[in-house]
This record gives sequence, structure tokens and C-alpha cells, in this order.
Amino acid sequence: MTSVAVGTMKVAQISKPGADFEIAERPISEPDAGQVRIKVKACGVCHSDVFVKEGVLPWIQYPRVPGHEVAGIIDEVGPGVTAWESGQRVGVGWHGGHDGTCRECRRGDFRNCRNVKVTGISYDGGYQQYMMAPVEALVPIPAGLSDVEAAPLLDAGITTYNALRNSGAMPGDLVAVQGIGGLGHLGVQFANKFGYNVAAIGRGSENAALAKKLGAHVYIDSQATNAAQELQKLGGASVIIATAPNSKAMSALINGLGPNGKLVVVGAALDSIEVTPSQLIFGSKTIQGWAAGTPAASEDTLKFCVLTGVRPMIETYPLERTAEAYVRMLSGKAEFRVVLTM
Ligand SMILES: [Zn+2]
Repeated sequence: MTSVAVGTMKVAQISKPGADFEIAERPISEPDAGQVRIKVKACGVCHSDVFVKEGVLPWIQYPRVPGHEVAGIIDEVGPGVTAWESGQRVGVGWHGGHDGTCRECRRGDFRNCRNVKVTGISYDGGYQQYMMAPVEALVPIPAGLSDVEAAPLLDAGITTYNALRNSGAMPGDLVAVQGIGGLGHLGVQFANKFGYNVAAIGRGSENAALAKKLGAHVYIDSQATNAAQELQKLGGASVIIATAPNSKAMSALINGLGPNGKLVVVGAALDSIEVTPSQLIFGSKTIQGWAAGTPAASEDTLKFCVLTGVRPMIETYPLERTAEAYVRMLSGKAEFRVVLTM
């Protein structure tokens, strides 16, 4: 495929593992067959961008532009693209594409495609003014959401929404959300709208009022109390969704599960969760990991947010200040999702 430059754009890239963000100028190219070019309006800064920044995955090619919470407008469609058109508002999330031919795809399980592409990791993501995306990664953005609101919903939002709606928890069940941060503040809202009895678990008392405002029925301070015991006093959790990337905190919650309870892990920490076989055997407990979902599930997430009023709380930074935005995200002090604007 030939790519013809139609001007230049700014990108925030990582040139090699461990390097700092640099703002670079690149040519704007034309979309290939099956792709669209998106004029990016907003892109969330996610803790998983650490994979690109620090080179945690050995197969990432550099320089790389991270970003998998992208909201923008289709600016040009490539050859053969019929279902999408220029001017349409779209997003791209963690699920950056699938082959449609592997064993899982043939069974409709696109999320677990053997050749799944991850936006901003397999190819350049949303920390730039224009990006290319394959059509199977696109999510239509409904009119009720702004670009900066939609962006974090395309990973933090869909991850908590999809993990909870697939967790098996029923209305009225005790569902705990560990971590009141970028993912957790959305998880609490979704859990409330799904009709669960919601326990929010945070460190310290300062998030108690906010957790209640977001829809938690109970707030458990894991510094002042033994959170697992507190969950047992409430009958034991059907589901605990662990959002803060802190494996020790996750390990400490396993004893808070009720019979047939499930710890759903969505916070991507790099160290080990510790559990003994007997902790899982008695009461048939489960630990499950969950990663985002398909673009169709993202579409469901956005529609649900319009319907119910669930919204991310955000802090915005212009693209030129990506390095600062990333440090802010890593600090854990952002309230709650950091979003770049272009
Ligand atoms: Zn596949």
C-alpha cells in the first residue's frame, strides 16, 4: 500500500522502552483498505500505557504512540469501507482488531482472538492528532456523550461494565468494588445501576463521601478495618471486582468472598496475587481475570451511560502536556481519569 502524506500532525511517542514522552511531527497518511483515519479529539491516559512506556511486552515495536481510549471523528475512509463514513463520531478502545479467522473468532469470541490487536500497543494509538484504525475496532459514539466523556468509557468504562455484567451477580447481591480510582469510580456507578448491594473498598476515610455519592451503599476503609471481615459481616461478597493495581490488596480480599464468590481482576498489576488452595476449595471460590471487551460491548457501555447518567470524572490535559498527564495518572491522585485533548 502506498501512503500519501496530506500534511503533518503532532504525536506523543515513546521512542524506546523506558524513554520519556516526546512530541514529534509526523506526516498524515491515507488509510489502507479496511481502515479509517480518525481526527482524534480526546484520548484517555490509562495505567496500561505503562506497557508501552516501560517496554513490559517484548514484542512492542518502537517508536510507539500509546492510547487506547480514543474519541474523534472519521476524517477519511480507506478502500472497501462501506459501513462507516466521513464525519461520523467514533471511538477506539483496548480491542484494536481481530483476524476473523482463528478458532475463537470462528466461534464468535472476538475478545479472545488468537491474533487480537491492542490499540496503542500493536499499532499507534490515540496520543496523536490523527490515527488509523481497522473498521472492526470502531465504536459509534452516541450524541449524549462528549468526546472527553466518551474516551475513558472505551477502556475503564467498558472494562468495569462488561466485567460486572458478565460476573454472574444478580440484582440485590453484595458486590464489592475494590479501589475508588479511574476504574473503580465507574465500577461503583455501574454496580449501583445494575441493582447490586454495593460495597466500595478504599484506603482511608477521604473517599467515603464520594463513594456514597457515586452509588455505594457501604464504604469500607481497608486501612482502618479488615475489609474481608467487613464483607463477611455483610454476608460475604458474591463478586469482588478488583480495580486498583495492587496485588497485595487483592489477595487480602479473597476471604471476603461468600460461597461461590468470585474475585474478578481488572487492575493490571505486575506482581503475584497470593491465595492458598483451601481458600478457593472451601466455598468453591473463583478468581477470574477480565480484559475490556469487543467494540460491540463498548457500544453497549456508551448507550448504557447515556441511559443511566453514568459518567467518568475527568482531568484534561492538552496533547503537548502528555508527559505531565502520564505522571499525574501514575500518581494515583487524579480524580479520576486523565484525558488528553487535541
Ligand atoms: Zn481471531
